[in-house]
Amino acid sequence: MRFDILTLFPEVCRAYCEESILGRAQRAGKLEIMVHNIRDYTKDKHGRVDDYPYGGGNGMVMQPQPVLDCIRAVRGERAAKVCYLSPKGERFSQQTAAQLSQMSDLILLCGHYEGIDQRILDSEVDFELSLGDFVLTGGELPALAVVDAVARLLPGVLAADACYEEESLQGGLLEYPQYTRPPVYEGMEVPDILLSGDHAKIARWRRNEALRITKERRPDLLKTAELDREDLRALENL
Ligand code: SAM
Repeated sequence: MRFDILTLFPEVCRAYCEESILGRAQRAGKLEIMVHNIRDYTKDKHGRVDDYPYGGGNGMVMQPQPVLDCIRAVRGERAAKVCYLSPKGERFSQQTAAQLSQMSDLILLCGHYEGIDQRILDSEVDFELSLGDFVLTGGELPALAVVDAVARLLPGVLAADACYEEESLQGGLLEYPQYTRPPVYEGMEVPDILLSGDHAKIARWRRNEALRITKERRPDLLKTAELDREDLRALENL
């Protein structure tokens, strides 16, 4: 899959994408992340990309010319969808990440200042995504969050697909607690069952813990999670 991030702050995005799992996956050819500076597309001789809002009000608004030229140049002949990161968008979720991971191309447009001219949205943006009910200074963090969440669902990006299959939200439940070595730390012990080597019992313990944590913290998820008879019994016993 190819991601194109359109931003006024390309270095912020590049720095994140070059590290850790995203960096390794790109070097292994599992995905491509291209970062483009919207300012490179302005026709203003002073390099300007924003202006005062018509009708008055605070802050500056990103102008149509550099943003539209940037989108069109980056998309070229491809059928890539354009997503604008915005607090007004649909809330981004694991389900959205799974849907986006089926695409081969995605262009992510980051706003800044007071946002972007409405005509950009009307002409070239396919959908809007919000990271949550809060307002950030720019769309870079939300764009990186989308790239990160989608990328780790792509084949070959994580060591094994099982890494995400049991994770929080992926299977409709929050994840069970994780432990690593040592078995005792500052008097706190790893549950015996995890050291037992009995894989069936470990799987059941983890499932029951996932049910317990989901019931405590996000009971709303239980309404849509896929639960079998044993799960329902475990929930009753909680
Ligand atoms: N005036 C805009 C409004 O009230 O909707 C907010 C502009 S915000 C200060 C600047 C940019 O940050 C936005 O154009 C958007 O790209 C990004 N942004 C801010 N909060 C966001 C959120 N919760 N989700 C996604 N993008 C966000």
